[in-house]
Amino acid sequence: MESKNVITPVEYETVIGLEVHAQLRTRSKMYCRCSSEYASAPPNTHVCPVCLGMPGVLPNINRQAVEYAMMTALALNCTISDYTKFDRKNYPYPDLMKGYQISQYDQPIGVGGWLNIEVGGQVKRIGVTRVHQEEDVAKLLHRDEGGFAYSLVDVNRSGVPLMEIVSEPDMRSAEEARAYLVKLHSILRYLGVSTANMEEGSFRCDANISIRPKGSDKLLAKVEVKNMNSFRAVFRALEYEAERQRKVLSEGGRLPQETRGWVEPEGKTVSQRSKEFAHDYRYFPEPDLPPLMPSAEWIAEVRAQLPELPEARMSRFMAQYGLSVYDANLLTESRESADYYESLIKSAPELPAKDLSNWLVGAAAGILNTSGCDIIEFGRRVSPGSFTELVRLVGKSVINAGTGKSVLEDMFASGKTARAIIDEKGLAQISDTSEIEAAALQVIRDNPQAVADYKAGKAQAVKFMVGQLMRLSKGRANPNMAAEIITRKLGEL
Ligand SMILES: [Zn+2]
Repeated sequence: MESKNVITPVEYETVIGLEVHAQLRTRSKMYCRCSSEYASAPPNTHVCPVCLGMPGVLPNINRQAVEYAMMTALALNCTISDYTKFDRKNYPYPDLMKGYQISQYDQPIGVGGWLNIEVGGQVKRIGVTRVHQEEDVAKLLHRDEGGFAYSLVDVNRSGVPLMEIVSEPDMRSAEEARAYLVKLHSILRYLGVSTANMEEGSFRCDANISIRPKGSDKLLAKVEVKNMNSFRAVFRALEYEAERQRKVLSEGGRLPQETRGWVEPEGKTVSQRSKEFAHDYRYFPEPDLPPLMPSAEWIAEVRAQLPELPEARMSRFMAQYGLSVYDANLLTESRESADYYESLIKSAPELPAKDLSNWLVGAAAGILNTSGCDIIEFGRRVSPGSFTELVRLVGKSVINAGTGKSVLEDMFASGKTARAIIDEKGLAQISDTSEIEAAALQVIRDNPQAVADYKAGKAQAVKFMVGQLMRLSKGRANPNMAAEIITRKLGEL
């Protein structure tokens, strides 16, 4: 056994755990009454002695923030602790006004949960270690004016409620890590507890990544990767880091425990600090806040507020509307797109749900892709009633599906109804027999060779003449009627 291990080249596996910080969408900050909607506010206008960290002031717990963290914990299948407390996490940094952050150390709100991810058609359960409550820090703006470097502090963000969600080290690839993040992001958006906007920093991810000989349960040095601002950045950083660690080990090097930062433009991670300089946070219980002991009634009340979550909604879409896994997954990725789909069904219950889904994941998704708009903006421009009117007009052959697609693009661009666009541009399909008959006669007159071919038994010639008729009518003739009438007229010759 042992000698086998010595001669077999070592095969490594990647081990990833993620820590996500999400800002909570409350009206006020975590421990004071300042507004937490600071995004477009001038610097240092949403401040008070509490979030400025003045000595002698007392914090208050934001009940809504606690409920949002509880909702999240419940949605992630965690157990809500019946005793949870706040702790001071001490570290000196200019963006930390008090010199400590009020966080939760050993008794977080939620523990022992999980969520399912799907990678390559396989469902995998990823453990969620904990969900805890904390507060955001101020923002530092570093400036450099002609060699004179200085920093500005904007305290508006200080004290905005944050929640940290820590996963178990259950992910084995960058792909799984991305799937976990996308899923978690979708759940937070469904819950409405966070805007979860990665670019604006209301949803941030740090990753712990290490590699180990396959089959071993001993972890090698853990590397923490920071500064990833998009799902793509997380994926690329972890791919890069796993490869780098393998290379170091295969070349006989050793991996120190350290924190590395992702440098997007260069596509690589760089060392930021080694473990020797890691902070000792000297946690201790926050003396100014009481512990929280959520009652069974309170937990039940919060649980009752949970909306239908993406997975449940996806299964229901498949069962209720007969959608494929693929379509149901796409439509339930965001709460807004699932809502829009169901408002289409509500607006036109007589139309097949599957048709509406095809229009949404087909033509409409194409418009979203090219315009860069989201489904909310799409819904603002194309109301559900307006969308289903279009689908109905196609169903009634007033226009064909191809024209319908371009009409939808027009509706999105102009906000006009399908009917208005069809009338304005004269797009309605011609189903008037006399009009098509006249066109058929002209095509027969203009194409004596095709007529001769037809008489010689070449059935293909009809197809050609239908093509000519469609061209003559600028694509508006009903193609089935055109074929029928041309064949009849040829027979009468
Ligand atoms: Zn304040």
